[in-house]
Amino acid sequence: MSVFDHHEFDHHEAVHYAHDKASGLKAIIAVHSTALGPAAGGCRRWQYVDDEAAVTDALRLSRGMTYKNAVAGLPFGGGKAVILSDGSATKSAELLCAYGRFVESLGGSYITAEDVGMSVEDMRHVNRETGFVSGLPRSGGGAGGDPSPMTALGVFLGIKAAVEVRLDSGSLKGLKIAVQGVGHVGLNLCRLLHEAGALLYVADVNDGNLQLVRDEMSVTEVAPADILSSDVDVLAPCALGGILTSETIPSLKAKIVAGAANNQLATDAEGALLADRQILYAPDYVINAGGIINVAREYYGNSSEEQVRAEVDRIADRLKSIFAEAEASARPTNIIADELARRIVSAGPSDVVVAARAPAPSV
Ligand code: NAD
Repeated sequence: MSVFDHHEFDHHEAVHYAHDKASGLKAIIAVHSTALGPAAGGCRRWQYVDDEAAVTDALRLSRGMTYKNAVAGLPFGGGKAVILSDGSATKSAELLCAYGRFVESLGGSYITAEDVGMSVEDMRHVNRETGFVSGLPRSGGGAGGDPSPMTALGVFLGIKAAVEVRLDSGSLKGLKIAVQGVGHVGLNLCRLLHEAGALLYVADVNDGNLQLVRDEMSVTEVAPADILSSDVDVLAPCALGGILTSETIPSLKAKIVAGAANNQLATDAEGALLADRQILYAPDYVINAGGIINVAREYYGNSSEEQVRAEVDRIADRLKSIFAEAEASARPTNIIADELARRIVSAGPSDVVVAARAPAPSV
């Protein structure tokens, strides 16, 4: 099947493929839209069942980045990279440099950063070959570094907003919250939720990551197969996408789904299934924008961590207005968010957005 006929193609501007024989790199960069600025989105390294699955992931994630960046008011379009992993735990410097050259070859139409399977340290290698990279180690009080803590902060504030709206409560104290996946974002989210007095239910397929949680706080551990149907108030998916399906939604007991994972809904139609069950869904790309806000401020420079936090704070109000519009129009929250994103993209870059742009940093 041609990529143009792919069910997730959705008018992508470009889809680039790279292979580097020497390092073994196989990668795809999908550029969904540059209408609001260079396409920005993380690079995911994953072992896919086949190449088709990798293309599908890149296309879905890339469109999600267009919407995420638009709703977050960032001077970025949407793109995403995937590196096809052979399953080995380590990545060679050669492979990361080859990936950097791939990004550089696109001349700035795509800006990369870390996502699942990539780290701040990896981005340093990528930066040896290209300046079109963010999520690098940060210096002083400036914005930058690992975006996960800011993603977790946005998700935490989004959960509070959802609890206010759906449960009519201003506090998380004593609420039962299930976190699926306690990796970079999940662990940081658990810290914030624990501090706020929530009772945590956690699951992960990686015992090393679970141990980091156990070391810091008391939680109830749940088998990965049972976490989605836990008897909790809030479900926070922080692992991978596609988990909310017509099979899993009927078993949910949570009244709110609000987490970091990208593409939580298997398809757009699952948003209506959640709404039918009176489960308030925080659209993933709205609630998890804290990381890309951090990445954007680092990339364009001259921003402090404080400024990033202030911007991440606005995620809560953005969600509340989406919840209100969904309630008023009796339509699912994911549809309201998609319409908002498409309106912003169609309107083109605002004066504020254009002013925020600066020349790309050099290698
Ligand atoms: P991560 O790889 O550090 O953590 C993911 C965790 O989920 C891992 O501990 C993994 O073992 C676990 N996991 C995988 N499959 C699981 C399963 N079936 N059940 C339970 N646990 C499982 O990734 P991350 O950076 O924390 O990102 C988590 C999610 O949030 C991803 O979907 C990512 O795309 C999204 N996201 C991350 C950021 C960020 O700043 N890191 C920003 C926006 C969105």
